[in-house]
Amino acid sequence: MIHSFNPPARTLMGPGPADVHPRVLAALARPTIGHLDPAFVAMMDELKTLLRGAFRTDNALTMPVSAPGSAGMEICFVNLVEPGDTVVVCINGVFGSRMKENVERAGATAVMVEGTWGRAVDPEQVERTLAAHPEARILAFVHAETSTGACSDAQALAEIARRHDCLTICDAVTSLGGSPLEVDAWGLDAVYSGSQKCLSCTPGLAPVTFSERALDKVRARTTKVNSWFLDLNLIMGYWSGEQKRSYHHTAPVNALYALHESLVMLAEEGIEQAWARHAHHHQALRAGLEALGLELIVPEAERLPQLNAVAVPAGIDEAEVRTRLLARYNLELGAGLGSLAGKVWRIGLMGYSSRPENILLCLGALGTELG
Ligand code: PLP
Repeated sequence: MIHSFNPPARTLMGPGPADVHPRVLAALARPTIGHLDPAFVAMMDELKTLLRGAFRTDNALTMPVSAPGSAGMEICFVNLVEPGDTVVVCINGVFGSRMKENVERAGATAVMVEGTWGRAVDPEQVERTLAAHPEARILAFVHAETSTGACSDAQALAEIARRHDCLTICDAVTSLGGSPLEVDAWGLDAVYSGSQKCLSCTPGLAPVTFSERALDKVRARTTKVNSWFLDLNLIMGYWSGEQKRSYHHTAPVNALYALHESLVMLAEEGIEQAWARHAHHHQALRAGLEALGLELIVPEAERLPQLNAVAVPAGIDEAEVRTRLLARYNLELGAGLGSLAGKVWRIGLMGYSSRPENILLCLGALGTELG
């Protein structure tokens, strides 16, 4: 007989999901109401306001997509890219290659800016590529590369894109709530994120925001968006504040209570205080790792505070260490991906996981297991 599932109590210090705050878990358990109930609709309006605060934007179209971060990526590409378009895509880790895949599946040409894993995207390389491709209308890049722990200069990249008459698609899955992200001040156009990282929420929702310039491009399309579920024209009918809500899909009601609660908590803390907390705890972890003789692979000026990629010392079986950490300490660290597989541990300090007790547990456990 199969019984109810009771997950073990883990401490999540990998690349996400991060630890979910108990207030968020409590919000999930509140009674489900109809997704067109006036009380729910009022909560959705608050959710949009809270998201605008987190993204630092006044964009009217700011909402959570009812699916994980990957759907946030897809909603940007399927709506903004048309067959025959040219899109410049920066790759400096795993997630840039997914963008390329999205561009090609939209029937467009991806011109790649090939960077180094573990480094930020090079703005000069982007400048040169855009100059060589005046037909390009979109620049796509990952702000916070979760696969390596490198942070790219989204402000500089947006400025270069504007000079070349390009819109930007920015992956902020790991940056939102964890390190500075200024959608309006930096002039970003289409930005997507995920609920499960620095927002301390459960996985499965993708906050997104679109500038008016981005929406103009969507409105000017000559071809139908190649996805019914992610067609912004249809989704706006449900999430738009101005008109009467029309049924599009059944919203994940309780998951949205959870995101609302996590954003209330972020607003209580203050977004700048949240960035400062992540930066402060990163410094504490870094100091401890260095004391253990471990090194971060990303140069200091390009490091993300919320994702720390640590070089595995020679002669150590990294997977075996992670298995022991999980079994003995209930502690989850992340493995390396792609070209970094087997070479790094990824230590996340995201959202509710970015706490002093987690840092002490991680350093104590690693110190003991590495001898
Ligand atoms: N982009 C980045 C930078 C990510 O780190 C992730 C997930 O880790 C994604 C996109 C995809 O998000 P999800 O796994 O929620 O679909």
